[in-house]
Amino acid sequence: MTQFSFSLAARSGKARTGTISTPRGQIRTPAFMPVGTAATVKGMMPESVAETGADILLGNTYHLMLRPGAERIDRLGGLHHFMNWEKPILTDSGGFQVMSLAGLRKLTEDGVTFKSHIDGSRHELTPERSMEIQRLLGSDIVMAFDECPALPAPKERIAASMQLSMRWAARSREAFGDRPGHALFGIQQGGLEPDLREESAKALTDIGFEGYAIGGLAVGEGQEAMFGCLDTAPDMLPEDKPRYLMGVGKPDDIVGAVKRGVDMMDCVLPSRSGRTGQAWTRRGQVNLKNARHQDDPRPLEEGCSCPACRNYSRAYLHHVFRSNEMISGMLLTWHNLHYYQLLMSEMRAAIADDTFAAFEEKFHATRALGDIERI
Ligand SMILES: [Zn+2]
Repeated sequence: MTQFSFSLAARSGKARTGTISTPRGQIRTPAFMPVGTAATVKGMMPESVAETGADILLGNTYHLMLRPGAERIDRLGGLHHFMNWEKPILTDSGGFQVMSLAGLRKLTEDGVTFKSHIDGSRHELTPERSMEIQRLLGSDIVMAFDECPALPAPKERIAASMQLSMRWAARSREAFGDRPGHALFGIQQGGLEPDLREESAKALTDIGFEGYAIGGLAVGEGQEAMFGCLDTAPDMLPEDKPRYLMGVGKPDDIVGAVKRGVDMMDCVLPSRSGRTGQAWTRRGQVNLKNARHQDDPRPLEEGCSCPACRNYSRAYLHHVFRSNEMISGMLLTWHNLHYYQLLMSEMRAAIADDTFAAFEEKFHATRALGDIERI
């Protein structure tokens, strides 16, 4: 059986390209993971998500434990079978979403008790229960259970939270047990404080994980502060293991993170934007709601090979959005995921050729042009 492994193939500056191997298939890095919150990437058939070039999806423990329930998914054959996605799946630990979505939370050394945002029922998440849920789901890459303070917060609060997360990381490692072919990732915390990030990286490395995430960013600190943190945070983590930046982001965030040595990212943005009439293109963001598109027979993005651009005009995409037709979200989500995966594949090629700096320059120059002239 294939074990979980990571091999680096090339570097360009700090940017890296390589392959994560799992029994369910290979993940080319840098990798972008579309988010399938409730066992679906909203608006997309799983085979269509695969067609965009995604090697791996992200599932949300918090949502799945509440509905339909981890035990139920296990009885029905596991998450891959349940949602018809046979490639790798990464699940988050539930910690972040409990903090952002659940009601009446109570945090103790042991874990978090909370009320479901769906029906008000009471639940508990601990490192041990999070590991159990992610095992029942059948996740290939399991995330350690952590706590993430909202920023800005006083340094003492960030330090105490990080140290709690490190104790939970050790309990997660213990509870995860020996599961060949599956991986457990630790999550570095510490806010924007380099010394806390360093302390967290050391604690995680001492425990030992198959990969390391950079957590607690993309929570409202802004791109400049995030990049400032990423100038040093990835370098504190082991060189020979995948590095995953959680919850990022916009295309320029992704390029900046890859430049700084990040290998994996996830974000709801391409699918969420698709449902609100927003498209991401090489020339930046396009708002299909805008009346300027109503007589425009041109494709959303010239040369794009996705179905939205191949077969439909901007005028049609504008019309179906304004008419609240389901196909609007379907087509724009497809285009956005296609664009994100194309961006990843271009970055992998540029890193392999050691031309990442030139790639980055062209990426920014094309975006600076803005959308095509109105008709
Ligand atoms: Zn397209």
